[in-house]
Amino acid sequence: MKNLFGVIGDPIAHSMSPAMQNAAFNMLGIDGCYHPFHIKPQDLEAGVRGMKAIGVQGFNVTIPHKTAIIPMLDGVDPLAQAIGAVNTVVREKDQWIGYNTDGKGYVRALREGYQEALENKQVLIIGAGGAARAIYYTLTSEQVTRIDLANRTLEKAKELVKRCPFPSDGAVLTVEEAAGQLEKYDIIIQTTSVGMAPNTEAVPIDLSRLNPKAFVSDIIYNPFETKLLKQAKQRRARTQNGLKMFVYQGALAFEKWTGAFPDTSKMEEIVRNQLGGK
Ligand code: NAP
Repeated sequence: MKNLFGVIGDPIAHSMSPAMQNAAFNMLGIDGCYHPFHIKPQDLEAGVRGMKAIGVQGFNVTIPHKTAIIPMLDGVDPLAQAIGAVNTVVREKDQWIGYNTDGKGYVRALREGYQEALENKQVLIIGAGGAARAIYYTLTSEQVTRIDLANRTLEKAKELVKRCPFPSDGAVLTVEEAAGQLEKYDIIIQTTSVGMAPNTEAVPIDLSRLNPKAFVSDIIYNPFETKLLKQAKQRRARTQNGLKMFVYQGALAFEKWTGAFPDTSKMEEIVRNQLGGK
C-alpha cells in the first residue's frame, strides 16, 4: 500500500499542494500519495485522530487550523512553538510532531532570489499576521536582526516583536512612518493580504521613496505580480513574488516526511500551470 500524506484545511478544494506534492513523489519514485482532507474547525480533534487511524504518515495544515492544532499534537518543534503555528505534521514513532516550514521556506526563497548575505542588511517587513510572524522569527533565528516591522494595527506589530524569542533590534512603525524612510531599506518584505486577488489594485505602502537598489518581495502569488511589485519594478528595484515561498515550504515538508528534497523547479512549474500558467 502507498504511504499516505495529505493536507487539512477548511476550505481545501482550492489547495495546490496535492498536485505539487504528488509530482514530487512521482519524480523521486517514492511510493506515496497526497490527498486534500476537508476538516471543519469543530471536527479538528477527531480529524487528527482519524488521520492516525487511517495510517497517514504526515500532513500539511492550512487555514484555519495552523494554531488550533497545536494542543492536539504530541510534540511541537521549538521554532513552530515560538511562531505559534504548525503547517507540517510528521508521524514520528507513532506520535504527531508539528513543525513550521513557512518561515524557513520563505527565507530559503529569499536567499535564492537575493543572492547576497542577509545578515546586516536593513529589512522592512510589512504586516504582522501569521506569515509575518513565521518570517520575522525565522529570519531572527538565522541572525538577520535589523528588521523594522510596520503594520496597519500597530499593537499587533508590537506584540509580535515582544514575543520574538530570538535577538532582534528593529523598530515598530506605522506603515506611513516606514514609507517616509523607505530609502533606508535593502530588503522590503510584503506579508499583508493587500493586493491579493480579487483586490489587485490595492497597494499596502507608498513606494515613492524606494531605493532602486532594494529588493522587494511580496509573498502573494495570486496575482503573480502584485501592483506593489509592478511599481517596484518601474522604480528599477529587483522583485520576487510568493511562489517560491509556497514551493519551498512544501519541499521542506516533503523532506521531513521522506528524507528526500525534491526538485523545486518542477514543483514551481506545476503550481504555475495550476494558476493558469501566467
Ligand atoms: P493574517 O494572519 O490574516 O494577517 C493579515 C495581515 O494583513 C495583517 O498584518 C493585517 O493587518 C494585514 N491586512 C489585511 N487587510 C489589510 C488592509 N486592508 N490594509 C492593511 N493591512 C491589511 O494572514 P497571513 O496568514 O499572515 O497571510 C497574509 C498573506 O500572505 C495572504 O495574502 C496569504 O495568501 C499570503 N501567504 C502566502 C504564503 C506563501 O506561501 N507564499 C504563505 C502564507 C501566506 P492588521 O494586523 O492591521 O489586521
